[in-house]
Amino acid sequence: MSVDTVSLTGWGRTAPTTALRFRPRSHEEAAAVVRGRGPRGALARGLGRSHGDAAQNAGGSVLDMTALDRIHSIDTRTGTVVCDAGVSLRRLMEVLLPLGRFVPVTPSTGRITVGGAIGADVHGRDHRLSGSFSRHVSALELLTADGEVRTVLPGTDLFDATTGGLGLTGVVLTATLRFEPVTTSLMSVDTQRAGDLDDLLARFTAAGDRHRYASARIDLLARGRATGRGVLTQGSHAPLQALPAHARRTPLAFRPGLLPAVPAFVPERLLGRTSAALFNELRHRGAPRSRTGELQRITTFFHALDGVPHGNRLHGRCGFVRYEFVVGYGQEEALRRVVERISRHRHPSFLAVLKRFGDADPGWLSFPVPGWSLAFDLPAGPPGQGRFLDGLDEEVAAAGGRVCLAKDSRLRPGALAAMYPRLAGFRALRAELDPGGAFRSDLSRRLSL
Ligand SMILES: Cc1cc2nc3c(=O)[nH]c(=O)nc-3n(C[C@H](O)[C@H](O)[C@H](O)COP(=O)(O)OP(=O)(O)OC[C@H]3O[C@@H](n4cnc5c(N)ncnc54)[C@H](O)[C@@H]3O)c2cc1C
Repeated sequence: MSVDTVSLTGWGRTAPTTALRFRPRSHEEAAAVVRGRGPRGALARGLGRSHGDAAQNAGGSVLDMTALDRIHSIDTRTGTVVCDAGVSLRRLMEVLLPLGRFVPVTPSTGRITVGGAIGADVHGRDHRLSGSFSRHVSALELLTADGEVRTVLPGTDLFDATTGGLGLTGVVLTATLRFEPVTTSLMSVDTQRAGDLDDLLARFTAAGDRHRYASARIDLLARGRATGRGVLTQGSHAPLQALPAHARRTPLAFRPGLLPAVPAFVPERLLGRTSAALFNELRHRGAPRSRTGELQRITTFFHALDGVPHGNRLHGRCGFVRYEFVVGYGQEEALRRVVERISRHRHPSFLAVLKRFGDADPGWLSFPVPGWSLAFDLPAGPPGQGRFLDGLDEEVAAAGGRVCLAKDSRLRPGALAAMYPRLAGFRALRAELDPGGAFRSDLSRRLSL
């Protein structure tokens, strides 16, 4: 097992902290790290794609799980796969697609591990229909604070505390996942441009469940009558008959694309509000007013951002903050106030995505609840940004909403209990299961999880 001392950040590249990184290659090695942890505890880490400090453990041990990446078995009859927690969703996709199967829930990057998908209980653009990742997990093996391995099943407290539990109940070693049948590796995609937020929400609602996947890009710098304008994109797995003749010969081929890498540092002057406004304007105008049935590769539709190596450098040296929140249906005015606040303050946001969530899954700290979810990135560091985002937290909490902890790097502990009503139960289970506090992270210390 390799061991080194490293400085780690989340995908947003803010607040680096130093930890002892272990790279276990077997369950026994992982258990040895947990048993031999020092006073600052231990934490599992996947591919470090959570944006904030959820996968960091300053002064403690971090178990890099990416060497535990075996796919143990695939059963196409029962539709299940058993794999190590360090396998990436992208790898699963490569292996499953040629078999006519697809990963259960995919976020906007495939470069995350199964353990990270469970730890953050990730959601995709089909949350209305598919729920979050944990809904598709039928069992997992968890290495707990005593160094023992437990099989954890849905319907138990330990399962609900672990899915979305940000690595704080233990280390997921393996998982059994249910997968979906598909007949091609292409998506059939419809696009619509909306002139303002009302128009966008109306189109989103009218679209219903015609397509499995839906999300919209919002131009958060548009002002006046155009505030909240955006582009709604919906997609479904294309049936065989939708493919042109040449593509029908290899309908399940996995065809990833790659764009040039982002340079080590992007000049700060390209990252200001003028550039962001221009970029958003061009992107909005460049989108079709209305287009149906466009065929796209699976990676283009779901993971376009993965096509840009080191895409997290785009925000410059100081890194960036991702803010993602959800407010329930009926709280559209709160969503509107947040969008107006960002547009009024002219924060340079290059990327903002709106999704609709359906029924919540039972994870105690799982993020999705039924409603509208908006995620956006801001370059970290400008004066007043902390106060501004605290104001958004208040708006979101007052509307009964919550922010996503896997993306967070700055929430204050006081805001948390209102957003996550199962927090007390989560703390109680941890106190019972792990009285010595074996599993810790920078996020758990910051928010007293
Ligand atoms: C471009 C991009 C797009 C994204 N889009 C979405 C999206 O659409 N929906 C969404 O929900 N998220 C999204 N995310 C966030 C990301 O999917 C999650 O944060 C995910 O947890 C990252 O997985 P990872 O393997 O990199 O885990 P890490 O970031 O390394 O860890 C995340 C958390 O999981 C825990 N963890 C990791 N491995 C294990 C394990 N084996 N056992 C126990 N706990 C573990 C860690 O301790 C940590 O708390 C996006 C991120 C990026 C960079």
